[in-house]
Amino acid sequence: MTCWAVVPAAGVGRRMGADRPKQYLRLQGRRVIDWTLQALLDHPAVAGVVVALAPDDPYWPTTEHADHPRVEVVAGGRERADSVLNGLHHLAHKAASADRVLVHDAARPCLGRDDLDRLLHEADGPDGGLLAVPVRDTMKQADAQGRAQATLDRSRLWHAYTPQLFPLESLRRALEGALAAGIAVTDEASAMEWAGHRPKLVEGDPGNLKITRPGDLALAEFYLAHGRAPFRG
Ligand code: C5P
Repeated sequence: MTCWAVVPAAGVGRRMGADRPKQYLRLQGRRVIDWTLQALLDHPAVAGVVVALAPDDPYWPTTEHADHPRVEVVAGGRERADSVLNGLHHLAHKAASADRVLVHDAARPCLGRDDLDRLLHEADGPDGGLLAVPVRDTMKQADAQGRAQATLDRSRLWHAYTPQLFPLESLRRALEGALAAGIAVTDEASAMEWAGHRPKLVEGDPGNLKITRPGDLALAEFYLAHGRAPFRG
């Protein structure tokens, strides 16, 4: 199987409150995005990676992967889904119609090889799939006043992580359709669901966290330093 990767990295990461987008913060001496790209490029199934960048991004040239022979860049878009679509359009010139694409957040630097292997193995069908983590806590639905209105059945609730793996052509069609229909697309699986697919939920490691708030950098350092296995299950 040939597999490509698209890494949306055009966000500003406002919740981080840092002086630069979170994918360019330092994590154990390297940029966050360098950890992320290495995890993808190290896998033998991944032929190449397309990174979607904000226009005039001054930080990308300072990364280790700026001149990597298997990494290309495209312009990002207004929303994450627009950035991903730009990457898919770029790949359409070089990929075969049966090829798969992994979409992975630039801000998830702790992706482990086991998780990637399992996703490629278990989500290879026409519906694709995604790494996901079952929720542990009791889940509440709030009313407009911020009071608990209902308790949800957590046995069927998952946190959606990345990478997410889909046939490239199906994902392109689903994203274009969902965006045209005005659907809020916060991950690729939501566009595929809208198009009638049922992506496989592949249980992943909670250590594959997305850097979102300041404390997440320290957590990511811990995961990178200690390995991820103890946090499974
Ligand atoms: O903001 P959030 O954490 O959900 O962003 C997830 C990923 O999508 C990040 O890697 C971010 O850089 C990327 N993104 C993008 N284009 C946008 C918004 C977010 O590539 N317009």
